[in-house]
Amino acid sequence: MKKRMKIFALGGNEVSPPGQVDLQTGKVKIPDLGEQWKRTSETSEILAEIIKENPDDYYILTHGNGPQVGNIILRAEYSRPILHMLPLDVCDADTQGAMGYMLAQLTNSLRITGINRIAAETVTRVVVDEYDPNFLNPTKFIGPSYNKHEALLRQKKDGHIMKFYKMDENGNELWRWVVPSPEPKDILEIDIIDNNIRTGIIPIAVGGGGIPVKKVFPEIINGEEIYECNYGITYKRKHVPGQNSVDIYTGVEAVIDKDLATALLGKMLIEKARDRGDDLECELFIFTDVDGAKLNYQQADQKDLRHLTLEEATKLYDENVFPEGSMGPKIKAAINFLNGGGKKVFITKVNLYKETISGKAGTKIGG
Ligand code: ADP
Ligand code: MG
Repeated sequence: MKKRMKIFALGGNEVSPPGQVDLQTGKVKIPDLGEQWKRTSETSEILAEIIKENPDDYYILTHGNGPQVGNIILRAEYSRPILHMLPLDVCDADTQGAMGYMLAQLTNSLRITGINRIAAETVTRVVVDEYDPNFLNPTKFIGPSYNKHEALLRQKKDGHIMKFYKMDENGNELWRWVVPSPEPKDILEIDIIDNNIRTGIIPIAVGGGGIPVKKVFPEIINGEEIYECNYGITYKRKHVPGQNSVDIYTGVEAVIDKDLATALLGKMLIEKARDRGDDLECELFIFTDVDGAKLNYQQADQKDLRHLTLEEATKLYDENVFPEGSMGPKIKAAINFLNGGGKKVFITKVNLYKETISGKAGTKIGG
C-alpha cells in the first residue's frame, strides 16, 4: 500500500515570536511562556489546515530549542548559589518535555477541524560519535553573552570554552559559551516513533536535535567488562572473549543541529518502511523565518532559489555558499534526506505553505 509522510521541522520562529524591544531599556525582551504558547498555537492552526487536506497521511513534527535552552541556562545561572547546574543533555530532555507539551496543542487544532489524531512527544536520544571532529573545535554558541573578562573567568571556573561572538552596538566585545555540534548518527527511540506513526499518532521527535548521547565502550579489568556512564554510574558483567559489548549510552555536553537530526529521522523511517516492503513517499518541510534559501543573502544582488536539483544543492553546499549554524545545515539536511530516499524538501515560512507547493515561494530541493 502506498503511504505518504510529511515531516515538519519547526524553527525557532514557529514556536517563539521574535523578541520585542523593551522601550525602557532598549534591550530585546525574551518572549514569555504565554507568547511562546500563542505563537505555537498559530503554527498549529496552519499545520492543522495542511493536515486537513490529506487527513490519512503520516505526519511528524520536529523542532528547535535554542531560545528555550538559553532560558534554562540563564535560570540556572541566577540560581547558582542554591542549585546545581544543568548539563546540555538534560537541558535538551527538559525542553523536549515542555515543548512537546506546548506543541501538543496541534491535537486541539486538529479536533476543531474534525480530525481525531494525537500529536505526542517522544523523548528522543540521538547518538553521536565521541571522535566527531566538532568535539575538538566547538562551533555552536549558546547561552548569554559576557564581556571578555567575565567570559575568561567563567572559562576558568566552569571549564566552558568561551569564544568571541560579536561586537555590541557600543563597540564592546561580546563573548559566549561554545559547544560541540557533532553529526547525528543514530536515533535510539526510532522504533517507538515508527510504531506510533503507523497507528495514526503524529510524533513530536528529535526536539532540539535530540538528547546527545554516545556509546560507552567497556574497559576490561580482571575478566569483567566495566561500562562507565555519567555521575560515576557503572555497569559490570563477566567478559567472555569474542562476545559483543552491550549497547549502553551516556549523555554528552553537545547540541545537535535539529535539521540534520530531522533528516536522519526521515532517512531511518524510509529505510524501515523499505525493509517491511512498504511503499512510503516522504517529504521534508523545513519551516523557518525566511521564505527559502537565497544566493548572495542580504546583498544588493540577492536572488531567490526557487528550485534546486539535488546535484545543484550539493554543488552550492560544497562551495560553502551557505553559512554554518543557519542555512548551511538546512541545505545539508536536504541533501542527506534526498540521498537517503526522501522525495522532496521545502525550505520556507509555515504561512507560505501553499505558495511554496505551487512554486511561487520558498525553495524546493529535489523532486
Ligand atoms: P531556525 O530556527 O529556523 O533553524 P536559523 O536561524 O537556524 O533558524 O536559520 C534561518 C536563518 O538563516 C534565517 O533567519 C537567515 O537569516 C539565515 N540565512 C543565512 N544564509 C541564508 C541564505 N543564503 N538564504 C536564506 N537565509 C539565510
Ligand atoms: Mg537553526
